[in-house]
Amino acid sequence: MSKKLRNLILGEDARQRRQIRFFLLTSVMYVACGMLTVYAAAIGVWEPWRSHVMLAYTAIGHVASYAFIRSRHSRRIPNTSLLLSQIVFAVSATDLAYAMGGEARAALIVIFAMHLMFTMLILQPRQTFQIGMGTMLSLLLTSAAMAWLEPARFPWRMELLHMGIAMGILPVMLVVAIRVARMRGQLEEMAQRDALTGLFNRRHMGTLMEDAISVKDPARGRLTIALLDIDHFKRINDTLGHQAGDAVLRHFARVLQQNVRGADVPARWGGEEFLLLFPDTPGTNALAALERVRSQLLAATPREGEPDVRATFSAGVAQRLPGESLDKLLERADHALYAAKEQGRNRSLVADAPTPPVAPRQPAAEDSAATVAAEAAFSAARR
Ligand code: GH3
Ligand code: MG
Ligand code: MG
Repeated sequence: MSKKLRNLILGEDARQRRQIRFFLLTSVMYVACGMLTVYAAAIGVWEPWRSHVMLAYTAIGHVASYAFIRSRHSRRIPNTSLLLSQIVFAVSATDLAYAMGGEARAALIVIFAMHLMFTMLILQPRQTFQIGMGTMLSLLLTSAAMAWLEPARFPWRMELLHMGIAMGILPVMLVVAIRVARMRGQLEEMAQRDALTGLFNRRHMGTLMEDAISVKDPARGRLTIALLDIDHFKRINDTLGHQAGDAVLRHFARVLQQNVRGADVPARWGGEEFLLLFPDTPGTNALAALERVRSQLLAATPREGEPDVRATFSAGVAQRLPGESLDKLLERADHALYAAKEQGRNRSLVADAPTPPVAPRQPAAEDSAATVAAEAAFSAARR
């Protein structure tokens, strides 16, 4: 597939691409079910209009779902809410298929069970419980309503049998689904978090940054990162021991977390290095946040049993330039951090934007000594 076509179908931002890939997977299922409804009509299980209603309902709902995911509006909606709405739609389509009747309607119970399987693999345990209960309730209501409205097509004795089978299988499936969703949540947590500090780890921060820079929206493309490194941490380990060093890291992580805005994300980048991601933030604001952390680090008292070490840190701050890669951005932050260490530690420096090489300027006759002195003073201030 050409890159252009892929961008057109999947979009350019990483989060949206994952959502659309999942959507395409469910499309395969919808197409298979659509073909089955046509087959059901062909062999006389359904009148053709029932198959048309089903095809229209699923096609309209599914296309609308794609259009929404692909639009800019979906960015403001959490991923789980999008998935939840897709599953609710799928359950409603299955209810509708059940209401269309036909001898084969008992087979739909398998599809209800499949919805639960999807749920446990993508949603939280609480949402899995809600979907499970909603699925069972909606199926019971559909069956009761149809037995009442169309007793000839839905004899209540048969409905009792079908619901008996469904209620024998689905609650057990639901218990299993909630357990799996819980275990999956724990595994995801372990894969994303650093065991010592509880902050996000390097791998997960990498994903978050990739997602953040893939957004092709100039209004939201402003992004700043800061690399923080505790000063002379080796000395803390050497004088107080490794355990005390660990306690200092935990304390540092807590202060970081408590002193950044909700949208800013701290992570343990490795050893005694931390990374802060500031979405939609210019470098100057990030600098202010770091100074807040710096003063809190001095003011905050450690927890009981933890050493009272007022560690300082150095930081390199880099605001992403238009189109800049993640590696380049990190490299600039790292250089600024190195410069902060070089200049005596316990400070934050903003990385310079790389300037394109320019041809050396011939000194003009009117270049006064005062101008040269002013330029030199300006460069010194920037450093
Ligand atoms: P600088 O100011 O130049 O950053 O000096 P530094 O001593 O902080 O830097 P250096 O890189 O020499 O030392 C970092 C130390 O951090 C060495 C390593 O043993 C220690 N360290 C890394 N991870 C952990 C950890 O999880 N727990 C503890 N206690 N120490 C750690
Ligand atoms: Mg270091
Ligand atoms: Mg250090």
